Amino acid sequence: MSISGTVTVKNNKYRPKGDFHRIEPNTPIRSADEGWKLLGVTNPREMIYIHSYGGEAIFFESLGQGKLMGARCDNPKCGSKGTIYQPFRTFCSDCLVKNTVFDMTDLAKKTAKVHTFMVCERSGAFNVLDKPIKFINIEFDGVPTILMSYLCVGEPKIGMRVTPIFKKVNPTYTILDLAWVPEGTKAAALPEGFAF
Ligand SMILES: [Zn+2]
Repeated sequence: MSISGTVTVKNNKYRPKGDFHRIEPNTPIRSADEGWKLLGVTNPREMIYIHSYGGEAIFFESLGQGKLMGARCDNPKCGSKGTIYQPFRTFCSDCLVKNTVFDMTDLAKKTAKVHTFMVCERSGAFNVLDKPIKFINIEFDGVPTILMSYLCVGEPKIGMRVTPIFKKVNPTYTILDLAWVPEGTKAAALPEGFAF
């Protein structure tokens, strides 16, 4: 069994190491209706996808440090100057100038509310969240965009105040390092590895 592929960047070049394409033995697909006649084969194979974060890397790095980073357009010539974007976006979508990155954790802790929500009893392949998943759309004071995330304690209600929690122990460096709980939730009620 070979080691799963990893990547580091050195001298500004991606340096993949290990195995990025793995194949396992296939199996025949046979018909129980027609005397086990051969109908085809399965083709099990694994590919490791290299997902580059670019200018959004700071957002994902910060989650594991307990910080929600926002992006703000500070271009004086932009009609959207001063607009805060959450979800994070590297560039202002109005003027295409690079946004200013700032820590909006306090703003989130003080003003985050459930805009709307949906509860999903089923999910797609590779989803690792516990079901039912309580997806929430979160609004923040002074932020015109809405963040999609999930509530991991309690039941969602429109307008309820929520607080961000962060996977500080063994972070995954993905959006799964961020979740939300109702305001006033005790630290003991948080899922493993998460903290305020
Ligand atoms: Zn702008």
